[in-house]
Amino acid sequence: MAIKVLVTGGKGGTGKTFVATNLAYLAARKGIATLLVDADVENPNTWISLGASKPRRIATVYSYRPSIDESRCSLCGKCVEVCPAHALALIPGKRVLLIDTLCEGCMLCMYVCPQRAVNQLMSEVGWISVTRHGPLDVLVGELRPGERHEDLVVEKLLEYLANAEQGKELIVIDSPAGTRLVYKLAKRSDRYVCVVEPTPLSLNGMKRLMRFIDPRKTVGVVNKVGMAPEMERAIRTLFQELSIPWIEIPFSQR
Ligand code: SF4
Ligand code: SF4
Repeated sequence: MAIKVLVTGGKGGTGKTFVATNLAYLAARKGIATLLVDADVENPNTWISLGASKPRRIATVYSYRPSIDESRCSLCGKCVEVCPAHALALIPGKRVLLIDTLCEGCMLCMYVCPQRAVNQLMSEVGWISVTRHGPLDVLVGELRPGERHEDLVVEKLLEYLANAEQGKELIVIDSPAGTRLVYKLAKRSDRYVCVVEPTPLSLNGMKRLMRFIDPRKTVGVVNKVGMAPEMERAIRTLFQELSIPWIEIPFSQR
């Protein structure tokens, strides 16, 4: 059974991709059968950092979208009332308007429509891809630009991970930015690497992460040390209070 290490940061731009990529590649170079999982689906660029060839798509992630047949619609407004995402608006006497970017694909509107005026369409929201760099296999989740269904792409990525982890000893997961989806990945992980930079936003992100990540299974990385000594002291104090061992990476403009 492979050990899963989630590399996370509580916010974007802390350097977690740099840490995840290096950790995975060094482990693979040492002969440990390693899989790097790029779950930063809005900006999956581990393969670029590695210099690997462009990932090959192996699956498409779909979401359901409603399509309203105006010839059947009686403008009763029931679909608008039930929509949990406020993605539908009734223009009185004219039509029902779908705000595509808000739709969550739950299809409640279809179930409540008394006229059977709502049809179900499939819409492509992302992809799962694979690539390889030397001894390191890479599994990538990618959200279609402009889409907001990161959760669907991460779900699909986890499905594929179940197969891809066969024969591996170590799985390194580069988590999405922020904390919303990290919870889902944290539940499936055995160890955590928490990468922070010396900014108030990053420190707050780390505090949020610590609400659902076990500090006893966590290693800290303070990145860009030398930029803001006061913030660095605050981060060290927090790591000390939580008994989290940490390493520091000095700031470099190169
Ligand atoms: S599919 Fe769900 S979220 Fe989308 S418009 Fe219908 S009810 Fe609203
Ligand atoms: S529930 Fe059906 S009939 Fe009523 S407004 Fe919506 S689409 Fe039209």
